[in-house]
Amino acid sequence: MATTRDFDERLDEIRYNNPALVTPQFSRDEVVAYIAAKALEKTDFGYPYRDVLKLFPRDWWLPSIEAILKARPNAEGARNFVDAFVKAEPAYFAEAPHELLGWNVGFARTMRMLQDRPDVAREGLRRMFESSKDFDRWHAAGHLAMLDASEEPYVGRALEAVTVPDGADEAAKKEMIVAQWMLREYGYELRAGSLHRAWPRATYHLAFPLGYLGGRPKEMLETPPGDVLPSTFTFGGSIEGRSSSGERVRLEHFMTLDPVPEGLGISASRLVLAASLWTLEDERTASFYRHHPDGTIETESDTVASHPAFRPTQVRLVRSPAMYLFQSWGEGTDENLYRLGGYPVFVQSPSYPKCIDCGLRMLHLLSLDSGLPLEEPRQGTTEHAWGSGGVAHGFWCDPCRISAWSWDCT
Ligand SMILES: [Zn+2]
Repeated sequence: MATTRDFDERLDEIRYNNPALVTPQFSRDEVVAYIAAKALEKTDFGYPYRDVLKLFPRDWWLPSIEAILKARPNAEGARNFVDAFVKAEPAYFAEAPHELLGWNVGFARTMRMLQDRPDVAREGLRRMFESSKDFDRWHAAGHLAMLDASEEPYVGRALEAVTVPDGADEAAKKEMIVAQWMLREYGYELRAGSLHRAWPRATYHLAFPLGYLGGRPKEMLETPPGDVLPSTFTFGGSIEGRSSSGERVRLEHFMTLDPVPEGLGISASRLVLAASLWTLEDERTASFYRHHPDGTIETESDTVASHPAFRPTQVRLVRSPAMYLFQSWGEGTDENLYRLGGYPVFVQSPSYPKCIDCGLRMLHLLSLDSGLPLEEPRQGTTEHAWGSGGVAHGFWCDPCRISAWSWDCT
């Protein structure tokens, strides 16, 4: 049998310049053998996967792709073929969108395909949960809970059932650890015997005024789809806060929620969100702010240096439609990752800070992408970046009235 390398070289010679030649120059058996072998190899950064599916007749390669989907080999090549297949033929998965779990075809894409057929997806995920083990089992549970709030009690009972006391046998302990870890990745944990979600279902996108975000793709940032709330909200600029030693300090104002939109887990009717960008830039871990009843915001730190504020403006909030409830970083080119409430957009592994007063995990409140304009240049630019261009996250503990800010990037 010819090696995949030989096949790749022959394909490379014609795939860009003479794609019409592929069918006369290769046989069906060669394509079948190639896919089977290539699926077990590491990623080929020439990405021939998509072209193989595009250039050869569908009936030459479909049985091979179906064999991969069935055998689920844990190999990069297989994942690349599935990824190419999902992009080329999303409709193939309409009857079984849950089968996409575990293939790494993108978190947001997977969630959207589940949301497209919620009834089919729910049933498939439940079946997958009941019939599989370890990571697959809790991966299915996490997606089931995210997809539909009414499934959360079911997932909570399942998590409670595998939560074992100290001294339990190794297998039981392992299952508990996998279950807790996997669900925590999606913001879930057991709290007083039921499933607690560290993000509110209510999701809004920020809509910026025309031209505010400079050279970024405009449509999603200025007129994201969804129902627009009647109020406008103050964004950017600076405000006075207090340091832990009682000194007046300048804080950068992010946004004032006045009124606080519904469903965010905030009991106040008005909330000012601000932080020290200097502190935030300096520390990769979360920094915390106390919101006093008189409106004063107090930092934990005793020193705060100044940093240019975001250019003041007014933003609107748009109630996000289903297809934008779940987004992830780097998955689309024209995404709006300025989100209030909803599922947080982490660049790396999810990380929810614990409240410095009560010790409980805080609720996600705001995700702010890089690219906001500063009032004055910093390090030669007025375009603010979180590290190499990541996303900042705001969190809230309602009983303690404490906010927390952190960011992550690649
Ligand atoms: Zn707290």
